[in-house]
Amino acid sequence: MITTEKALQIILENISILKPKDVPISDSLGLIVAEDVSSEENIPPFDNSAMDGFAVRSKDTIGTSPKNPATLLLRGEALIAGDTPKVKVKEKTAVGIMTGAPIPSGADTVIPVEFCKKLEDRVIVYTHYPANMNIRKAGEDIRRGDKVLERNALIYPADIGVLASLGMEKIKVFSKPIIAILCTGDELVDIKTPLSPGKIRSSNTYSLSAQVKEVGAIPLEYGIIRDNTEEIKEKITDALEKADLIITSGGVSMGEYDLVRNIVTEIGAELKFWKIAQRPGMPMAFWVFEKKPIFGLPGNPVSVMVCFENYIRPSIFKMMNKKFQPRQIIKAKMAHPVKNKKGRVHYLRVIVYKERDELWAKTTGDQGSGILRSMAKANGLLTILAENNFIERGEDVEIRMLKPILTTPIPISIENF
Ligand code: AMP
Ligand code: MG
Repeated sequence: MITTEKALQIILENISILKPKDVPISDSLGLIVAEDVSSEENIPPFDNSAMDGFAVRSKDTIGTSPKNPATLLLRGEALIAGDTPKVKVKEKTAVGIMTGAPIPSGADTVIPVEFCKKLEDRVIVYTHYPANMNIRKAGEDIRRGDKVLERNALIYPADIGVLASLGMEKIKVFSKPIIAILCTGDELVDIKTPLSPGKIRSSNTYSLSAQVKEVGAIPLEYGIIRDNTEEIKEKITDALEKADLIITSGGVSMGEYDLVRNIVTEIGAELKFWKIAQRPGMPMAFWVFEKKPIFGLPGNPVSVMVCFENYIRPSIFKMMNKKFQPRQIIKAKMAHPVKNKKGRVHYLRVIVYKERDELWAKTTGDQGSGILRSMAKANGLLTILAENNFIERGEDVEIRMLKPILTTPIPISIENF
C-alpha cells in the first residue's frame, strides 16, 4: 500500500504530453496552442469608415463651423460595407459612406452624418475633422507578421474569433485525449435492460464518461464487460490501440473474480502500484503499457469518482499540456464531529453552506463507497489525513470544492440524514 502523494507522483511521472494535432478552430476552445501563430494578413484588410457620414479631404473642411459651412460636390452613390469604391475624392468633393465601407482614394477623413446636410448633388459640412479621423486603418487590429497566439497559450473564444478573421481553418493544439472506459462485472446491466435478480445498473459507465467530458477529454465507452478472462483481455487490447488512457472499473480487489489485475499484467503492462492508503478507492491499481497509462479502479461508484478526481483528472490535464487547475479550496467550520480510521487518507463527501456569513460543512450522509447519492448531494470533498482521526464540531477544515457553495437553505434530504 502506498501513500496518496506517492501514487500521484508515480502516475504523473508516467504521463506524457500527447502529440500535437491540427484541429478545426471550432474544436479548439480550451485547448493549448502547440506552435506560435502569426498573421499573414492585415486586419482590417483595408482602411474603412468607423462612422456613417461623408468621406472628404480634411483640408476642404478647414475653418468650417455651423455659421460658416463648406459645400462639397457629391460624387457617385454612397458607399456601403462590402463595396469596392471606384470614385476618387478630389478637391471640394465628398462621397457618402457607411460604417465598414472602404475609404475611397483621395479621402482622408469621414465627417459623421450628424454634422452634414445632404442636398440633391451636394453636401453641406458644418464641422472640421483632421485627417485620419473616423477611419479604421488597415492593420490597426492585427498587422501582417504579428504573433496572434503563442505556443502553450490556452485558447479562449476571442482567440477563435481572431483565427477566423485571419481565415485560419485549423490550429495545431495539444489535442483532447481519448479515454477508454471499461466497466467489468457479471452483476452489471446497461440502463436499457430491466433489472433481474442479482443485477445492478452500470452507473460507472455514465459517471466516468461525464467526468471525462468535464475535463475536456473524449470518452470511448466500451460498455459492460463480463468477468471473463478472454473478454476482458480482448477489450483491453482493443482499447490500448484506440485510446490514449484506459480506465477499468471493477475487478481489482482480492476476490476470485477480480480478474482485471492479473489480465492487465499478463498482457505485458507494467504494474506500477496496487493499493493506495485511502478511503474510498483503496484497491486502485496503475499500470503502463508502452507508455499508455491504465488505471484499474475498484468498482464501487464513489471510489471510481474520487479516484478519477484525484488521479485521472490531473493526468488528463498533463496529457493536454494544460496547467493543472486545482479545485478551489475553502475554509469552513465542521458542523458536527467526524471520526476517521487512522492510517488512511479519508475523502469525505460534504456540503458546504453559508449560515450567517460563515461557511459550514456537513457530511452528506453515509460515507460507504457504494453510496453514490451522498456524492451527488455533496459540493465538496473534505480530506482527513491518515494521521488525523478526529475532527471536533466547530473545528476549521479545508474543503476542495467540486461545485459552488450552497447559499440557499440546505435541502431537507441532507438536513435529515
Ligand atoms: P468490484 O471492485 O468489482 O469488486 O466491485 C465492487 C462493487 O462495485 C460491486 O459489488 C458493485 O456493487 C459495484 N460496481 C461494480 N461495477 C459497477 C458499475 N459499473 N456501476 C455501478 N456499480 C458497480
Ligand atoms: Mg467485480
